[in-house]
Parts: sequence; structure tokens; C-alpha cells
Amino acid sequence: MAKVRAATVWMAGCAGCHMSFLDLDEWLFEFAKHVDVVYTPIADVKEYPEDVDVALVEGAVATDEQVHLIRDVRRKTKALIAFGDCAVTSNVPAMRNPFGGAEVVLKRSYEDPANLNPQTPREEGILPVLLDRVRPIHEVVPVDIFLPGCPPPAARIQAALEQLLSGEPIKLEGRDLIKFG
Ligand code: SF4
Repeated sequence: MAKVRAATVWMAGCAGCHMSFLDLDEWLFEFAKHVDVVYTPIADVKEYPEDVDVALVEGAVATDEQVHLIRDVRRKTKALIAFGDCAVTSNVPAMRNPFGGAEVVLKRSYEDPANLNPQTPREEGILPVLLDRVRPIHEVVPVDIFLPGCPPPAARIQAALEQLLSGEPIKLEGRDLIKFG
């Protein structure tokens, strides 16, 4: 049987969800028997490939570049999993939303702390183009499965992936699988 083509994607998140994925420890060997990981920040793959069966997407959408990436991921992926609370609700990255748009964030980051010659870098390509509002994944593209948690515990990730590998539709029910935080 052909292996499942899987990806993990890192958007605006702290990498904690990826760390939780690595907490699957020895079960990762079982996972690797059935899956080819074709794109992940853990490997240095530059372009998101075609024909991906499943993608775990960590983090919210906070920049213009991430809008393009998540649209590309959606177009090339059969099952897109919003992986963790930042992907599901926008969570921590969205804490900047109540303070205003991108300019407020840039000023607070670059100009307010400066003692001399405060300025925000404006050259093209120097800074990511921030969105005025950080958004959860499902506000930008359709999501197939929501896997909450900050981060989702390894046992929860394993339960979802085991269902996926069994060929059954993923169904997350009960406190252990859907509790936030
Ligand atoms: S959900 Fe939590 S652990 Fe995952 S990226 Fe966001 S802040 Fe980090």
C-alpha cells in the first residue's frame, strides 16, 4: 500500500505544537512505517509539494506570506488539520489584535523602545508584511479537522493520526480529544 504523504506547517505559533508532535517519541517509528513526511519545518524543504494527503498546520495567519502559504497548502492538500489553539482560534498571536493594526505593532516593536533615532525598517523584503488582524486558519481557507490544545497533548495527536491511518474519517469526541488549553 502506498504511504500517506503528510506535511507539517509552521505559521504564527511558538513551535510548541511541533514539540508536542515530537513527544510522540517511539510511536513516531510506527508513524514512519505508514507515512512519508514530504514537508515540515523540521526538514529544509523550500516549496510545498503537490498531492499531500494530510497537513498539520500550527499557528495563526499573521502575515501576507502566511496567507499565500496557507492557500497553497489548501490547494495541494486533501485533509487540512488546524493543529493547536493558535490555528483553531488564533490564540496567543491574536493578543495584538485589540491594540490596532500592523502600524501600531511595528511602532511598539521598533520605535517606542528606541532611545535614539527611532525608526521602523521600511525596505521591501526586510520585514514580513503584517496583517492588520491575526486570523485563525478557517477564516482564510476551509479546515477539515480542528485539533485543539495549547499544545495538543501527544496522546491527542496520536489518537487523531491513528484514525487517519486506519482510513476512517477522523472523529474527535470527548474531553480528552477536544478540550482547549
Ligand atoms: S497553540 Fe500553544 S503551543 Fe501551539 S503554537 Fe500556539 S501557543 Fe504554541
